[in-house]
Parts: sequence; structure tokens; C-alpha cells
Amino acid sequence: MSQVIKAVRGMQDLLPEKKARFRRIEDQARRVLGQYGYQEVGLPVIENTHLFNRLVGSTTDIVEKEMYSFNDRNDESLTLRPEGTAGLVRFVNEHGLAFNQTQRLWYTGPMFRYERPQKGRYRQFDQIGVECIGMQGPDIDAELLLLCARLWRALGIEDQVRLEINSIGDTASRQAFSAALVEFLNDRSDELDEDSRRRLETNPMRILDSKVPTTQALLSGAPRLKDFVDAQSQQHFEDLCAILDAAKVEYHVNPKIVRGLDYYNRTVFEWVTDSLGAQGTICGGGRYDGLVEQLGGKPTPCVGFALGLDRLALMFEDRPEEAATAQIYAVSVGDQARREMMVVAEMLREETGLKIQVHTGSGKLKAQMKKADASGAEVALILAEDELAAGVVALRELRGTAHQTTVVAGDLPEALRKIFKQDR
Ligand code: ATP
Ligand code: MG
Repeated sequence: MSQVIKAVRGMQDLLPEKKARFRRIEDQARRVLGQYGYQEVGLPVIENTHLFNRLVGSTTDIVEKEMYSFNDRNDESLTLRPEGTAGLVRFVNEHGLAFNQTQRLWYTGPMFRYERPQKGRYRQFDQIGVECIGMQGPDIDAELLLLCARLWRALGIEDQVRLEINSIGDTASRQAFSAALVEFLNDRSDELDEDSRRRLETNPMRILDSKVPTTQALLSGAPRLKDFVDAQSQQHFEDLCAILDAAKVEYHVNPKIVRGLDYYNRTVFEWVTDSLGAQGTICGGGRYDGLVEQLGGKPTPCVGFALGLDRLALMFEDRPEEAATAQIYAVSVGDQARREMMVVAEMLREETGLKIQVHTGSGKLKAQMKKADASGAEVALILAEDELAAGVVALRELRGTAHQTTVVAGDLPEALRKIFKQDR
């Protein structure tokens, strides 16, 4: 026997129950996004590599070591998207959607990052990305957070997540802060963990959200980002907080939140849960007012977030998902009955819209009824010799009473509607 081929490391298979869970979350998100007037768009999974090199900033973890890049047959360097915002900005520029207009857009699909796989961290994972183009905020920033809060309520997890927000100011304030931070830490670099020492050269602000206790201790005496944030950004942030207060959205101002991607400015936020261990951020985002211009468009204020579906789905792992089994299981004995049952089932799908699973292959009636029972269906339709001879179909209720009647095929839709309480 040849060896069984396995999935690539870090790439997840979604078994039916898990896929159903993803689908349910996505359905809720789609509904909530619709309530706020957001439109779904479709973006390619592959982009030119230079898009990410230019937009994400070449010193972030993603670009430094997480991208899946390859040369195609034409020797062009392409990349499986590690995140969606860069592609979305490319998209709005390419279709002229950014200039002098506003957009509320969202997309969903797989992202790819070469990371060390662990619970809540995979090499292919799904995000829902939501992006607002052409609005300065802070009202639109608040809208995005209200939308998230509504989604958590719809999913019943509002008590398990908390909102952490921060303002990182404009580009100049970030640069001034970065410089001050580097100066402070340079003198103490032998006390830093290895990752942070590397970041000192490449992306110093990321050191702030280091998980290493000694590094965190060192930071307690470091310059504070808050003191570098420009007055306009500070006002923007206060206005945002005022809207959140008025709308009764709870939040914590967390000065350590800076986000992993270079392109953020002003508002940054994360929705965090304690129920997933180290991978506790289920959703993150912020403002990226410079990005559209960076990709050749006119200066355009933007704000958005990305929600990690895989992590969100993990929060529901202990709850059974309603499996997509049949409502009706159709069994038959003999070739003629089998043919007729196929036709009857088609007629019923057409007339009632119910989920019908037809038993395939042959088999004794008893064995087939066992399958019907195991399928979770509420009703079995039976067509064996007796029924065939009498020109009827037997209808047995599988849960509770085990009540059985016989019905001519033409009356089945009505009988089933009654059982499944469908209005005409
Ligand atoms: P982390 O700090 O956990 O690595 P991040 O800052 O890299 O997250 P973002 O780029 O902001 O994450 O992506 C938004 C969301 O996408 C995250 O909050 C998380 O829920 C999800 N996500 C990011 N990377 C992964 C991954 N490798 N596997 C599963 N989900 C992920
Ligand atoms: Mg990451």
C-alpha cells in the first residue's frame, strides 16, 4: 500500500462540524455588516510581492519572515496574501473607488503566513476584513467598534471579549517616539530579550507588546508614546472615546497596543479574549490614513479591522454545532422502489424545500432504518414491496412516538408540511 499523503504543516482541514461553525459565524457577520451598509467585495488570494513590500513596510514580521512568495512561470514574484488591507487598497485605487467618495467594504477568505503552527495560529487561516475608505473619523472609527460589539452580542460572546484601544498619533509623532525609545533601550540592550533586540533595529515600537517579563519590566521606565502623540490625534482619540462612552461601549485604553503592521496611525484597537490562551486577539485594526497615497492614490483617510475566524471559532469548540444532516431519510427495497424513491424525493425537495437524504445502494430494510435513525432525521419515508404494491409510501416519525402512516405520494408534501410545521 502506498503512503497516505498528509496536509501541509500548518494548513488546516475543516471537518463538517468545524466548517458549519465557520459558516455560522460568517453568516452572522454578513448580516451585521449588512445592517451598517457595508458591501462585500472579492479580492484575489495572490498579489504581486512588491505590493506587500511597499505597503506593509519591509521591517514587520510579516514581510521579514512570514510571506509565502514564489516566482511564477513568467518569473514574476507573487505572494499568497498574508493580510487583506494591502490588496483592498490596491483594489480601490485600481477601480477609482477612493477619490472623492466614501466606501464601506468587506471581504473574507484565506490568508497565508509562515508562522510556527499552534492552537489559534496556522499557516492558512481565514479572516473577515472590514475597511472604510475616505472618512476621517472619529465617528467612523466608533461605527466599526459598535459593529464589532453587535457581532459579539449576536454570537453570544460579549462577556468573553474586551476592547483595548490606543492612539499612536501621526507619522511624525511615531517617528519621534521611536527615536526616543531606541535611545532609551540602546543603553540597556543587553537586558533585552533576543527578539526585542532585533526589533530595536527594525521595528522598535513592536517591543512594547513583547510578552517577555524582563523586557516589560525594563519598559516601565521608558519614554511613553502618549507623550509624543500630536494634539490633533489626541483630540481625535478623545472624540472617539466620547462616542464610545455615549454608546455605552466598554473599552480600556491600553498604551501598549501598537499593532504589528507599519501602516497604522492614530486609532489602533484589539478585541481580546482570555479564553484562548496566548492567541487571545480575535480582531485587530486601526487607521491607515497614509496607505492609499503610498500606493499611488490621492491622500485618503481610511480605517479598518481584520477578524480572525479561526480563533473566533475556537471560542465555540465546546458547543455542539447543528450538523447539516437530513430532516428526512428515504429508504427503499428493490430496484423498482429505489427508482421511484429517487423521483419522489426530487418532487418533495421541489415542493417543500426540506432536506432529504436518500439511502443509496441496496440493503435490508432493517439496516436501512438503522441508518435513518443515525442520520438524525426526524422522518423516514419507506418504500418496500408492500407499499409499492399498494401505491403508497410509509411515513414514520423517528423521534418520540414512532408513529407510522401510509400516504399516496401526491399527499406527501402536505403531510410533511404538517410535521415540520411549514406554513403554506
Ligand atoms: P498576532 O499578534 O496574534 O500574531 P497579528 O497582529 O499578526 O496577530 P493581524 O495581522 O492583525 O494579527 O490579523 C488580525 C487577526 O487575524 C488576528 O487578531 C487573529 O485573530 C488573526 N490571525 C493572525 N494571524 C493568524 C494566524 N497565523 N492563525 C490564525 N489567525 C491569525
Ligand atoms: Mg502575527
